[in-house]
Order: sequence, then C-alpha cells, then structure tokens
Amino acid sequence: MLPKLLPNQKVFVEITNPVHGGEGWKFGTCLWSPQKDNGGAAAWKLMEEINPGDIIIHFLKLRIREYFLYGFSIADSKLIKTNDRPPNPGKWDKGPYQRINLGEFKELNTPVSVKEIFDAHRKELIKILDVVEQRQFYVLDKNDLLKMQQAYIVACENSLYVLLNKYFAANETGAQEVDVIYKVKADNKIVVEETEETENEPTPSDIAPPGKKDAKVSRFIRDTKLSRTLKKKHQWKCQVCGEHILLPSKNLYAEGHHIQPLGNKHNGLDVKGNILIVCPNHHAEFDYGSIAINPGTMKIEHVDETNRWHGKKLAYNRADIDKMFLEYHYEMIFKKL
Ligand SMILES: [Zn+2]
Repeated sequence: MLPKLLPNQKVFVEITNPVHGGEGWKFGTCLWSPQKDNGGAAAWKLMEEINPGDIIIHFLKLRIREYFLYGFSIADSKLIKTNDRPPNPGKWDKGPYQRINLGEFKELNTPVSVKEIFDAHRKELIKILDVVEQRQFYVLDKNDLLKMQQAYIVACENSLYVLLNKYFAANETGAQEVDVIYKVKADNKIVVEETEETENEPTPSDIAPPGKKDAKVSRFIRDTKLSRTLKKKHQWKCQVCGEHILLPSKNLYAEGHHIQPLGNKHNGLDVKGNILIVCPNHHAEFDYGSIAINPGTMKIEHVDETNRWHGKKLAYNRADIDKMFLEYHYEMIFKKL
C-alpha cells in the first residue's frame, strides 16, 4: 500500500530507465538532473518543489516503449546542488548536477505494465487529465491514445494517487513474497522444507504446518528478494533461451534457479553467484539434471544432444555467476545421470 497522505505531503512521479546514472546515482536511491536544462524548458524545475517526506512514485522503462509502475520511495532531502558527476549520465552529460536523496525505497513484487493501467482506467485517466492543469505521468496523443509523458519528474494528482494505490495494494510483497521455505530445526540447523518458485503462493500463515513443537517454519524474505532483484535486473529473461513469459496482466515472469540446490542434501547457498535466471522449462531441466552449463566452456550441454540448446552459448552470461556452483551442478547433478 502507498502511505496515507499527510497534510502538506506531496506526491511526485519519476519516469526513468534502469541505468539511472550508475553507481552512487542509482534508481531508487536518488532523483537527479542537470542544474540547467540546455534544451530550453526547465522540465525538472519541479524538483525544487520536492521536500523531505514527499512521496515519489517510480515508473521504469523496462522494455522499448514499455513502462512499468515499479515502486515508491520517500524524499530524504531537498534539492542539493552538487559538483559531483554521475558515472553514467547518458544524454544528461552536461553538469553541474542536482540531486534529491531518497529513502525507504519499496519495489512492487510484480511491476505493473502501464498498458494495463491505461487499459483498465482509460476513462478515469482522461477525466483526471481534463480537470487538472498539472502535468501527469501520461498524456493523450493526437490519436486519442494514452501515452507516457516524456518528462523526468511530474506531479501526481490525488485522485491518481488513489488509483495507483490499487496496484500497489494488489502487487505488493506479501502473498507473493517467498521462493523458499525453510524448516529451522531445534539445533538451529536450517533445512529446506519445500521449494516454491511460482508467483502465486499461499501466504506464510497458509503454509505453516500446525502443531510442530520442535520446528519453526520461516520464510526467508531475503532469499526471495535476491532472486527477485536478479530477475528484475535482467528483465525476467531466461539465461539459456533468452525467453520470458508475458503474463495476461502484461507482467513478465521468470524463475530463479539455485545452481547448487539449497538444502541438506546439496547445501547450496542463496547468493547471487548461485542463482540463474531461467524460464520454467529450463528451470525444470536444471533441477532434473537434463541440462547444464559446462563450467569450462560455458556452453550449454543437454542430455539430449539433438536438443536445440545443446552446444550453444548462453543467451546471456552474468559475470556474477560463480563457476564453483556450475561445477557442482555439472559434476554432481548433470553428469550423474
Ligand atoms: Zn529458457
């Protein structure tokens, strides 16, 4: 849920891309722009009106021409003029720069495609556009289509805030929070009770087994967050085939695969280097040992040598994959078959 608005608290919308300036200037940590708009209109003059405590709603361009409602944060500072330069300023390569620090960044569990919002609320959105002079995050183009606003920061009208909150309430962490369920034994040893990596999971209270005195079932949010963060970072694309699943909601779907499986048999770790992003098919194939990444060649090997991915390179590799885990999977799970 978005925070309940306090008197004098204002809401702004950031429309941006995942690069966002690079290290130290990353998405979710700050808002920033050059101090002067060399193009003419002072599009980000609005940043001067942002005060600590104001709410920032983030829209992110995750695919070409496709924006997603992504999360929100709270302004932590007023506008700061600075001589520092973002490492990756993109087309804003002329400083000096200004920034607003952000805090309490919260991401939606499943980002919502703006198309979905436009389709579901066209009439309401047009109405808001009609009565309010302030720029909104969308415009109506000459073909009568709702389009994202080409601006970095815009104000958010109250009725729009209420509407967006519906999406926050429905897509937030909670019901879809957890990938892995652990059982914590009396001696504090953690074993994997069960793995669930679908996006439609019961809430923790639904799955807690009743009446187990010596064990406590916990769900490690941190684990899921890691997998989710990776999936988002790589736009839900399978590392083997490059495919992702587009859900009817227009959201994307992929799964996080622990290369060396978690749990007391394999004792893999829940770390970045041990998580591959895969489609459900390839996830199952890795789990069953039908497919592997050869840690020497970094090529895909399949038990079925006629399989279309056998001998191919990954759709994309990640520098943060740890070969140690690939070796484990290759030797212990794949070769064993
Ligand atoms: Zn795949």
